[in-house]
Amino acid sequence: MPRLILLLGDQLTPTVAALRAARPGDIVVMAEVIAEGTHVPHHPQKIALILSAMRHFAEDLRATGLNVAYSRLDDPDNTQSIPGEVIRRASEHGASEVIATAPGDWRLRQALADCPVPVTQLPDDRFLCSETEFAAWADGRKQLRMEFFYREMRRKTGLMMEGDTPAGGQWNFDHDNRKPAKPDLFRPRPPRFAPDAVTEGVLALVETRFPAHFGALRPFGWGVTRADALRALDHFARHALPTFGDEQDAMLRDDPTLSHALISPYLNLGLLSPMEICDRVQAEWQAGRVPINAAEGFIRQIIGWREFVRGIWALEGPDYARRNALGHDRALPPLYWGAKTRMACLSHAVGQTRDMGYAHHIQRLMVTGNFALLAGVDPWAVHEWYLSVYVDAFEWVEAPNTVGMSQFADGGVVGSKPYVSSGAYIDRMSDYCKGCAYSVKEKTGEKACPFNLLYWHFLLRHRARFEGNPRMAQMYRTWDRMDDGHKARVLRDAGAFLARLEAGETV
Ligand SMILES: Cc1cc2nc3c(=O)[nH]c(=O)nc-3n(C[C@H](O)[C@H](O)[C@H](O)COP(=O)(O)OP(=O)(O)OC[C@H]3O[C@@H](n4cnc5c(N)ncnc54)[C@H](O)[C@@H]3O)c2cc1C
Ligand code: SF4
Repeated sequence: MPRLILLLGDQLTPTVAALRAARPGDIVVMAEVIAEGTHVPHHPQKIALILSAMRHFAEDLRATGLNVAYSRLDDPDNTQSIPGEVIRRASEHGASEVIATAPGDWRLRQALADCPVPVTQLPDDRFLCSETEFAAWADGRKQLRMEFFYREMRRKTGLMMEGDTPAGGQWNFDHDNRKPAKPDLFRPRPPRFAPDAVTEGVLALVETRFPAHFGALRPFGWGVTRADALRALDHFARHALPTFGDEQDAMLRDDPTLSHALISPYLNLGLLSPMEICDRVQAEWQAGRVPINAAEGFIRQIIGWREFVRGIWALEGPDYARRNALGHDRALPPLYWGAKTRMACLSHAVGQTRDMGYAHHIQRLMVTGNFALLAGVDPWAVHEWYLSVYVDAFEWVEAPNTVGMSQFADGGVVGSKPYVSSGAYIDRMSDYCKGCAYSVKEKTGEKACPFNLLYWHFLLRHRARFEGNPRMAQMYRTWDRMDDGHKARVLRDAGAFLARLEAGETV
């Protein structure tokens, strides 16, 4: 009796666990379904990227002789849900057993566990650290800190190691990173990939089936095959990696990508593997083409942060994304969905997100995330927004970054303190403030940068929780030293700003 081998849209790896388990005669099931495109309103480019990558991958599998039962979104028989398609294909092929690779989304893991046709969910071993290995590392630790986990991963992979010691004598070269950047017309831009006939077909489909989703569908320039992904990696390694460290935290109005890699979608879909990326980066450094701060900083993002947040997601379980340690309950302001705002930083970060489905880490963390946290937005709403609008967003990586790192809604599992800042940080790291209706220099009054006002409002709202945190004590001392009149004006103006936000006024 044939078995079904279920492949989800982010499992496009020829050696993914379920495919490795395939036996002659098994049927590979792939399904484009409305339920996955709409459980949050995914960005049209994200839907198109996944569907086109799936279609290309299915053809590659067929070329190897595998029997692929592929459901297109507009097939009349499509039940439009993953369990629905599993049941339909099982009955069509007389299969009573399904092999899957465990999804990176608790909702889908549960749906497969509840499926009337029994589904075996194999561990997804495309990560460098398995869920059980992470749990063993976390066991008994009072706090889980990425830096210590990262050192373990360096030892495990041997990346940038000289025997037992880290290359260059340090684990981390961040003090050489994170500089502001200047506009540079000659800075290489990431490659764009012209849509082929398959992608054009998908674009037309997405246009008609998801017309109301936030985000521009065109121009669409994402790669959709492994060959495209390898080209993107090669371009990054040759042109942007040398300045990755220096420009990692910088933000420029007219340069949304700076020296970033734009490879997270390919990595998360399974078109690239974490180790091949890091091997390439290490080779560039060994060849003397890339400074150590850039290579180490980049490798840390992949074997450190990416693996760490995945471990946290698995360890903390299905209720994680619902956490709300700070009790925030404000609705997500319409400016996140493109409504007009006078704040230039938010306008640029959201506008870029709408146009590309992409913003880099600091835009996500210190602009859109920072503002939502300072304004006290419900973290679940923030989570749904991030999961919707970024082409690389899948629950296992998005939720710990949003709920944990960016909103501190997990109460300090991912980070030891909230990532909040006044406008001064954004001004230092970007050119946004120059074109803003607000003034970053002003601390009170109508023109005062809202980040300046809300920063103190946030710290005072949560004083009981944070003033004992050694990494935050200095901020409270600074506040306490301010004169009472100034403090009262800051809080009054912050309150007035929040009231305008609540009333739906353009802020
Ligand atoms: C609120 C918030 C939400 C985020 N949501 C996602 C998400 O849904 N999907 C996602 O892949 N990343 C997410 N990130 C992490 C990070 O912003 C993106 O990985 C990065 O911007 C992707 O662009 P890039 O490939 O150009 O990255 P680069 O800046 O060039 O970094 C290289 C790679 O490192 C990895 N990486 C870097 N930081 C992280 C991190 N914190 N967590 C996991 N991987 C990391 C990514 O694979 C990335 O491709 C989020 C960060 C924040 C603050
Ligand atoms: S002044 Fe404030 S709101 Fe305006 S761009 Fe700068 S940080 Fe953003």
